Amino acid sequence: MLEGFQPTRAALVLIDGPSELAFDYSIPDTVTELKPGCRVRVPLRNREATGTVLKTFEVDEDNATHSLKPFTSLIDPEPLVSATLMNLGAWIADYYGAPMEHVMRVILPESVRQDRHQEKTRKAVELTGPVDPEVLAEREKRAPKQAAILHALSAKGPLLAIADLGGSTALASAKALEKRGLVKLTDEAVRRDPEADETYVETQALQLNEEQSIALACLEKAIDAPSENKPILLHGVTGSGKTEVYLQAVDYCLKQGKSAIVLVPEIALAPQTVQRFKARFASIADQVAILHSHLSQGERFDEWHRIRQGKARVVIGARSAIFAPLANLGLIIVDEEHESSYKQETSPRYHGRDLAVLRGHMEPAAVVLGSATPALETFANHQSGKYDRVTLTQRVDAQSMPIIRVIDMKMEAQKHKGGDAILSERLRTAVENRLEKGEQVILFLNRRGFARSLQCGKCGYVCECTHCSLPLTYHRTDDRLICHLCGYQAIPPKKCPDCKDPGIRLQGYGTQKVEALLHKVFPDARMARIDADSARKKNALRDTLRSFKTQKVDILLGTQMIAKGLHFPNVTLVGILNADLGLHVPDFRAGERTFSLLTQVAGRAGRGELEGEVIVQTFTPHSPSVQFARHHDYEGYAEQELEFRQQFGFPPYQHIAVVTSRCTHERRAEFSLETLHRRLKESLPKGILLTEPMPSPLVRSHGQYRFQLTLRSPSARYISRYVQQTLAQLTLPEDVTLTLDVDAYSFS
Ligand code: ADP
Ligand code: ZN
Repeated sequence: MLEGFQPTRAALVLIDGPSELAFDYSIPDTVTELKPGCRVRVPLRNREATGTVLKTFEVDEDNATHSLKPFTSLIDPEPLVSATLMNLGAWIADYYGAPMEHVMRVILPESVRQDRHQEKTRKAVELTGPVDPEVLAEREKRAPKQAAILHALSAKGPLLAIADLGGSTALASAKALEKRGLVKLTDEAVRRDPEADETYVETQALQLNEEQSIALACLEKAIDAPSENKPILLHGVTGSGKTEVYLQAVDYCLKQGKSAIVLVPEIALAPQTVQRFKARFASIADQVAILHSHLSQGERFDEWHRIRQGKARVVIGARSAIFAPLANLGLIIVDEEHESSYKQETSPRYHGRDLAVLRGHMEPAAVVLGSATPALETFANHQSGKYDRVTLTQRVDAQSMPIIRVIDMKMEAQKHKGGDAILSERLRTAVENRLEKGEQVILFLNRRGFARSLQCGKCGYVCECTHCSLPLTYHRTDDRLICHLCGYQAIPPKKCPDCKDPGIRLQGYGTQKVEALLHKVFPDARMARIDADSARKKNALRDTLRSFKTQKVDILLGTQMIAKGLHFPNVTLVGILNADLGLHVPDFRAGERTFSLLTQVAGRAGRGELEGEVIVQTFTPHSPSVQFARHHDYEGYAEQELEFRQQFGFPPYQHIAVVTSRCTHERRAEFSLETLHRRLKESLPKGILLTEPMPSPLVRSHGQYRFQLTLRSPSARYISRYVQQTLAQLTLPEDVTLTLDVDAYSFS
């Protein structure tokens, strides 16, 4: 090192505001200690801005550090973000190869980073001490309004809002009292409470069965000594009472003075789970925070600060709730941990379940991953001894698992002579039979809209989206063709745009067409439909589920929105109209998804006193996902699927990352990826597998051409560091975007 060399201390600061800009500043000499997560004021062009310190570092003189401006001042020496969360953020940046600016936007929501969403306050008045009776008597004579305030404060005080005392006239009286030193005017924080108009009747803990008791004991042990315990896989069949175990574990955790996070796949799809938590903890309702995407900026600001201040100690939310700024975290629960919605599809492309395990390790806190069909990654971690497992093998009240019958739709299609076979004979009579008995039916179809696509019967032309290479879906209600990816709409042509034949017709079917058919076949049945279209109206999902629960509806028809977490005792039949829809997509997880979807949907049947039956219609009755689901055999399925994954080097045996190039100009998108591919290949480290660049299965999306390549390696970090390093030496055309998705879930 050079003599007299003084390294400059510098900080990377993320500027508040929606644009996610981060700049280097030198640290002023007056600031002796600066932790990542601290809030600072900085000069920015001609103004002053505020921001968050992402990291601190030292720079030598060669790096032209003299041009670094010092930041203006430290707003608070205490970091706004805890050291654990900052470490978690640094881990995400490294593992997923994401810029720290992107990571911060999930750790510190924009509403919290911005000055303008400050606490909402209202004027309040407070007694400075006990009221002297003589003074009070004197005020009663001379200023009855002031006396009234003193009375109210002694009776209901010590702090009352001016608004509750009579508004502006009360303010004048209170000011007069303040002059006499009798009261003090303050600003009281008002919570913008998203749940303000809801009340819940408190529910009591249920008497656990033996398996549940063992599971709870195991969780309690982990809460007591998190660093001595592994993450726990709570593997329980549908209806085995996992949620009840979660509830009691959270209760135990709170009683130990600790806090808890409950992750659910998508809050809108988990209304029953959320309601059960709210009801169980109704007596401490203000300690429960529900984080969902419908919160206003102000509500989000308030909830975030309530959590950070320890006022809310249970946080329920989708994947981003893993960043909840809870102190003294004791327990993290990941419900339906196999769900792919835990993976974020924009940068930073993190996986909520994996971060739960990591945060649990860092805090330390107990981690519980619950599922009837654990992700194969999770199951493999249990097999290798990284996770402990507790199982719930029985349904509550020892109900038997529903009988699953598989119908071969190729045979049915022959009967229908080419027309769409939607409802098999078997399923139709089964539905009739339930309707007669006054029992309820769920029909499941994983496709919304009226029909899949418009296809010419003569030349085979299919109407496709002009921006994405996907067939357009026909929606009958507004007689439109809609692209389910980008929302593009078109008027359906009367004849084939290509060969001009008038024989263009609807192919396949969606929920709306099935609904129309059901009305014809079962004219007296009361029917309701749930899919992304019907759920768009506010409260539609909740209201429909409520009328189904109160048996005002006989047949509930829906997409995967009704697949999980719902509990209806009077449902004795579940029909899966087309089990194959998920199978024919270019994705190695397609089989796993189908298996778990069938199992979850089947789990909706027979959840009460009555026995359940499931009818699965499929064109591939012998596929392993259908057959193992039919026999309720998770382990059998996992065993053969893991063998396949190992043989072909897929997760969980290798990590897989996808690099995608996007550009409105096809050649540039392709060329950029080819250049990257060449560079990656030049010095490819041993242990990384690289595929050739190719068009994405979805070649065009939102008007952009897409090309992709994949990398595989036993170490994910190894891949992301290598890709980052190679990218850093590459200059790409400005209109080309390259994205890296580590542990990818989507291959379209
Ligand atoms: P899972 O989450 O495993 O699908 P749930 O927790 O939803 O199962 O339980 C299914 C139903 O059984 C719920 O209505 C729940 O209230 C009830 N239940 C759970 N545990 C018990 C118990 N120990 N005794 C009685 N009923 C229970
Ligand atoms: Zn489109």
